[in-house]
Amino acid sequence: MAKKTSSSGICYLVGAGPGDPGLLTIKGKECIAAADVLVYDYLVNADLLRHGKPNAERIYVGKKAGDHTLSQEEINKLIVKLTKEGKVVTRLKGGDPVLFGRGAEEAAELAEAGVRFELVPGITSAIAGPAYAGIPVTHRSHASQLTIFTGHEDPTKSETSLNYAKLAQAEGTKVFLMGVERIGEITGELMKHGAKPETPMALVRWATTGRQQTLVATLGTIAQRVKETGFKAPAVAVVGDVVTERDAINWFENRPLYGKRIVVTRTRQQAGVLSRQLIELGADVIELPTIRIEEPQDLLGFGELVQDCHKYDWIVFTSPNGVDAFFKMFDKLYNDSRCLGAARIACIGPGTAEKVKARHLAVDLMPEKDFVAEGLVKAFKANQNIENQMILWVKAAETREVISNELTSMGAIVDEAIAYQTVAEKEDNLEALARLKNEGADMITFTSSSTVEHFLDLGVALPEGCEIASIGPVTSQALTRHQMPIAVEAKSFTIPGLVEAIRKHFAK
Ligand code: SAH
Repeated sequence: MAKKTSSSGICYLVGAGPGDPGLLTIKGKECIAAADVLVYDYLVNADLLRHGKPNAERIYVGKKAGDHTLSQEEINKLIVKLTKEGKVVTRLKGGDPVLFGRGAEEAAELAEAGVRFELVPGITSAIAGPAYAGIPVTHRSHASQLTIFTGHEDPTKSETSLNYAKLAQAEGTKVFLMGVERIGEITGELMKHGAKPETPMALVRWATTGRQQTLVATLGTIAQRVKETGFKAPAVAVVGDVVTERDAINWFENRPLYGKRIVVTRTRQQAGVLSRQLIELGADVIELPTIRIEEPQDLLGFGELVQDCHKYDWIVFTSPNGVDAFFKMFDKLYNDSRCLGAARIACIGPGTAEKVKARHLAVDLMPEKDFVAEGLVKAFKANQNIENQMILWVKAAETREVISNELTSMGAIVDEAIAYQTVAEKEDNLEALARLKNEGADMITFTSSSTVEHFLDLGVALPEGCEIASIGPVTSQALTRHQMPIAVEAKSFTIPGLVEAIRKHFAK
C-alpha cells in the first residue's frame, strides 16, 4: 500500500452544534465520516462520533472549566502533528468553532505549519440555546440587535477586555456564555452601568439536550435564583425583552416527556430506535445496554439449516435479531434471493415483519395483536393446516420452546435454527452507570426478559422513585419473578406500543 504523504492530510475544524445530535450540519457529518482521527471536546455530544468510521481513532481532549485534559497548546500541537502524518483529522468543537471556541487559534497553527485545513461552521449555543427555551434572540417587537459576549472574564478585574458601560447601554438582546460562575458580578456590572434590574433574563443549561433546564428571572434577581436553585454550568444567558416570548413559544420543554429521565437497556445497536422515539417526546435518555447479540455456539449447524431453507414450507421468525442473523448467513451462502424458494414466512410481530419486508419479502402470517409466541401459535391454529409441513424456526438460544412444542403438536415437523445468543454486555457502561447513580431516573424500560435478567446481574440498585416499564407479558413475567413492580406495560407489544404506554403514563 502506498504510504500517504503529508500532502494528503487535512484538518477539519468542525462546529458540532450545541448538543442535540440533529443540530450538526451535513458537511460536519461528512467530515466525521471521512476522519481517520476524531479529536473532540467536553461539550461535544459523543453520539456524533457514531457517524465516524468504526476504526477511526477517537481522542478526547476535554476542556471542562478547570479540568483541561490537554492544554490548548497541546491540542494545537496534536492536530498539527496528526495532519502532518497525512491523516484526515476532524476536530469537533461545541457549537460554532469560532464563537468563543478558539477555532481561529487552531486554524492559525495549522496555517503556520503549512497543512491544509477547513473551517466548518456550526450552530452556536448562543442562538440555539435560547431558541430551544422558546426565546428568539431577535424579534420585530423587542430587539433588532444582538450582542454576544463572554462571561469568562472577571468583570471586576482591571484586565478585562469587556467594556461593561457600553455593554449595559447596548440596545436589544444580550447573550453571554460561560457566565454561570460569575453571574452576580456580571449582572451587577450591567446594572451598575445603567441596565434596568427588571429586564427579563433567562439561563438555559444543557440546552438542546434531554437535560435542558431553563431558569427565568430578571437581571436583578437571577444571581439570587441561581444560588437558591443550585443552577449549574454549562448555560447560555440571555437578557432582554425577548425572554417574554417564551410564555407563548416554549416548545421544547412543553413536550410530553420533558424532564423525564428514562433508561434504555436494549443492545447498543437496537437502543437507538427506542431512544430516538423517547427523545422526540422530550425525554432525557440514558442508554445502558445490558445485553449483546452474539453468534450462536453452533454457527456451522445454523449455516446448514439456512442453506436448506428452500426445503421448508414455512420459515418462522420470532425476533428482529433472528431475521438479521438469518439473512446475514443467507447472504454469505447465496447471492440470489430466489434461493429462499417458495417457503412461506411467519413473523411474531411488526418489528420482526419490518425486517422481512425490508428484504422485499412478504409476510404470510402474523398475529393480529398478541405479538408473543402464543399469539403466533394462535394465528397458525386459526388460519393454517400445518400437518406434515416442514417448518424452520429461526430463534435465539434462549427463546422459550412454545413455538416448537405447539406447532409439533399440530402435526408439523419443526427444525430449530439457533441464529444467535443473547449475552451480558460487558463493554464498560461506566458513564451510563455514573449518570444513573448521580442523577437518578424516572423510569427504566425492559424490552425482553433477557434485558431484565442481565440488568439484575449488573447488581445496580434502581434509583429511588424509578418506575418500571415492560414491553409485554413475557417480559413482565420475568419482572414479576424478581418482585419488580411494573408501572407500565405496553398494550401493543412493540417499541411504538411501549413508547405510547410511557407517554400515557406520564400524561396522567
Ligand atoms: N463555541 C461554543 C461556545 C464555547 S464556550 C458555541 O458556539 O456554542 C462554552 C460555553 O458555551 C459554555 O460555558 C456555555 O456557556 C455555552 N454552551 C455550549 N453548549 C451549551 C449547551 N448545550 N447548553 C448551554 N450552554 C452551552
